[in-house]
Amino acid sequence: MLCVNCYAYELNEIQVDYYVYNECGLFNVVLRDMTVRSCPYCNCGHVFE
Ligand SMILES: [Zn+2]
Repeated sequence: MLCVNCYAYELNEIQVDYYVYNECGLFNVVLRDMTVRSCPYCNCGHVFE
């Protein structure tokens, strides 16, 4: 899927066991067993359950 922020790049999908979500203005949010999608252009992480 395309980045929901810039709509210009495909998101890289990464399976993670432990992820500290500290991008896009959020801090100290720890997620477990998540799929994280990150954009190579705007470097913004997007998390979908
Ligand atoms: Zn983007």
